[in-house]
Amino acid sequence: MNIRYAAPLLAMALAAPLAHAEPEQAPLNVVTTIGMIADVASEVGGECVAAEPMMGPGVDPHLYQASASDVQTLRNAEQILYAGYSLEGQLGEVLENFSRQKTTVAVSPESIDLSRLLTADDVYGIDPHVWMDVSLWSRTVDTIGETFIEARPECEDSIQANAEAYTKQLDALHQWVRESVETIPEEQRILVTAHDAFNYFGRAYGIEVEGIQGISTDTETGIADIRHMADIVIEREVPAVFIESTINPRTVQAVIDSAEKRGHEVVIGGQLYSDAMGKKGTADGTYIGMLRANTQAIVEALGGEVAPLPDALASWAERWDLDEA
Ligand code: ZN
Repeated sequence: MNIRYAAPLLAMALAAPLAHAEPEQAPLNVVTTIGMIADVASEVGGECVAAEPMMGPGVDPHLYQASASDVQTLRNAEQILYAGYSLEGQLGEVLENFSRQKTTVAVSPESIDLSRLLTADDVYGIDPHVWMDVSLWSRTVDTIGETFIEARPECEDSIQANAEAYTKQLDALHQWVRESVETIPEEQRILVTAHDAFNYFGRAYGIEVEGIQGISTDTETGIADIRHMADIVIEREVPAVFIESTINPRTVQAVIDSAEKRGHEVVIGGQLYSDAMGKKGTADGTYIGMLRANTQAIVEALGGEVAPLPDALASWAERWDLDEA
């Protein structure tokens, strides 16, 4: 370091008042598995919480295995939040181990009434993709807020205020998705995707859902699966099918090719965020933005028109420089 610059810095440091008061408590260090949980945690926790996901954009949680550095990150965390219902299929043992050492919460089972969950198959039990129905995912807000308040009781007021404000935004988002999907002509309300991540979306917003692969991505897709899906696409005259950000698009492409060989033209309607959000620092890198982008892609490719964003999401849109609200 150049001494001429170092000297004034040192002088400034010495001139700063000495800290006599109790130092401000550092933000609660929270590690989550998927980004969707980290985003809710950041919205709810505000200044009191620093939440980071282990899995970034494009990462498939069904197959994700913890690296040595992940284990270190989890070790350093004060709290761990994960989705549960076998979404993080390879992390079961790691999460169980940490649950004996620190607050480790499976947010979906802790938040959502069993009667509102969809069953998947015998292997999976419950379909873990609950974030696809905003009215279900918004239930995690209070669970996450309460978990934080246990560790930072002094933050109770701000966390509760944040939770309330964010829940209002999610309520408005839920309405907006529903209104937008309703604009798709009824016979075209069919959503063909790479894997079965959209059943909650379909149930909540009134669109039939067909996944080429099952609930998890840890199974092989066979020729029979491709042909079966091509049959549906042809029979129902589906105009567009969708690839997913966390999954290799080859099965979707195989369905398109198979349908085309039999004389039915179908296009890729866009890339959907299924099990991970978009790039950090972009609108799509938030939970609200993920649902918005998916809805927009689905509605437009299937012949509908999205509704204007509601007033309750104006501040969110402004944050990301979107002038739609
Ligand atoms: Zn999935």
